[in-house]
Amino acid sequence: MGGIVIVGAGQAGASLAAKLRSLGYEGAVTMIGEEPVPPYQRPPLSKTYLLGETSLEQLYLRAPSYWERLGVALKLGAPVTAIDRAAKSVCIQGEHISYDQLALATGSRPRRLPRAIGGHLQGVYTIRTLADVDTMAAEFETGRRLLIVGGGYIGLEAAAVGAKLGLKITLIEMAPRILQRVAAPETSDYFRKVHAAHGVKILEGVWLERLTGEDRVSNAVLSDGSELTVDFVIVGVGITPETLLAQDAGLDIENGIRTDEFGRTSDPAIWAAGDCASFPHQGGHIRLENVGNAIDQAEIVAENMLGAQKVYGAKPWFWSDQYDVKLQITGLNAGYDRIVSRRSEGGAVSFWYYKGDTLLALDAMNDARAYMVGKRLIDAGISPDPAVIANVSIDLKSLLKA
Ligand code: FAD
Repeated sequence: MGGIVIVGAGQAGASLAAKLRSLGYEGAVTMIGEEPVPPYQRPPLSKTYLLGETSLEQLYLRAPSYWERLGVALKLGAPVTAIDRAAKSVCIQGEHISYDQLALATGSRPRRLPRAIGGHLQGVYTIRTLADVDTMAAEFETGRRLLIVGGGYIGLEAAAVGAKLGLKITLIEMAPRILQRVAAPETSDYFRKVHAAHGVKILEGVWLERLTGEDRVSNAVLSDGSELTVDFVIVGVGITPETLLAQDAGLDIENGIRTDEFGRTSDPAIWAAGDCASFPHQGGHIRLENVGNAIDQAEIVAENMLGAQKVYGAKPWFWSDQYDVKLQITGLNAGYDRIVSRRSEGGAVSFWYYKGDTLLALDAMNDARAYMVGKRLIDAGISPDPAVIANVSIDLKSLLKA
């Protein structure tokens, strides 16, 4: 068949396919997905879909008929098992599909607990796919005892859903504080308080020794010696990029599928985008795990597959919904040395990450204005005086006029 083949029918794969068509590409586009469903959004899985407020139809990135209208051949429900780089083809269920150019958008997989500590027991879940959430949905009944392992965004969002539905929740985080890997202590403190107010018990600096039970989990032994009776467990301890296919094909791997600044892998006919791709950034290589990156990178890769030679410069943004708090994040906070806080009347709060005089990133809680202004400043490389940021009597919008 030839043309462009995309492996992975998730956020990046879908964005790439749609962009190819919007750029006028008329060749064959085939998108292959291991999951049996058309491309859908993952963020609601730990938020409104888990809560039962979002339907499956609302989860789809596009109505399933859209792909047919676009002339994108979807092959769903089976993984690509090998890439034959010499023959320029991929293998799916014994069938070989040839390509002129190949894009890998294979995403990532959740880390699981080892069998030795009970990770295999029934009633132990991760949240990555629609099937994961559909399988665990029946567990979310009022009064049941849920243990969440991991105090990152997914664990905290699941806790918020569970608390809203009247579950008894304990969340453990082995680091000294929740969100330690991704946010400042100020943001951790903020969310710890919010969860405490909703009755979620958060234990920090505490890890799981083991889960026990016959076939099904019924008990958890924690590092502080305590034991909990549990009805089910959600494990949210991070993800690893899905690189197996690329690795087997001999592509360069470096914490993800290594690409150049254009999104091209070590094979000139193969590209990568989204959670699985590790790309050049400020002298090193980084990998981002968010929707904004998946969309922007995939669209740049689509342009470059058609010869544009555009460099991908990440402009990270992210959000999380917990109870009535909307957190919006922009920028990358790595290397920050101080936090400037801005607290407005009405509960809007934002934490601004500075390195020296340089504004790196921003966490805004129920403060859409701070987020909007902060994003524009960071994207433009403008660093306002921290004293101005901290002064709530100064309208942030005035900074954009300067
Ligand atoms: P994915 O969306 O994971 O898609 C990859 C697809 O490739 C998968 O369907 C996988 O099955 C398939 N695949 C893998 N290997 C093969 C193979 N060999 N053959 C065929 N198919 C294959 N981001 C935000 O910005 N904000 C949020 O609030 C947020 N919340 C999240 C909540 C949850 C519960 C989860 C799981 C993620 C969340 N994210 C959020 C992250 C965001 O969803 C991901 O960064 C984004 O989906 C990455 O897109 P992707 O296309 O790279 O990977």
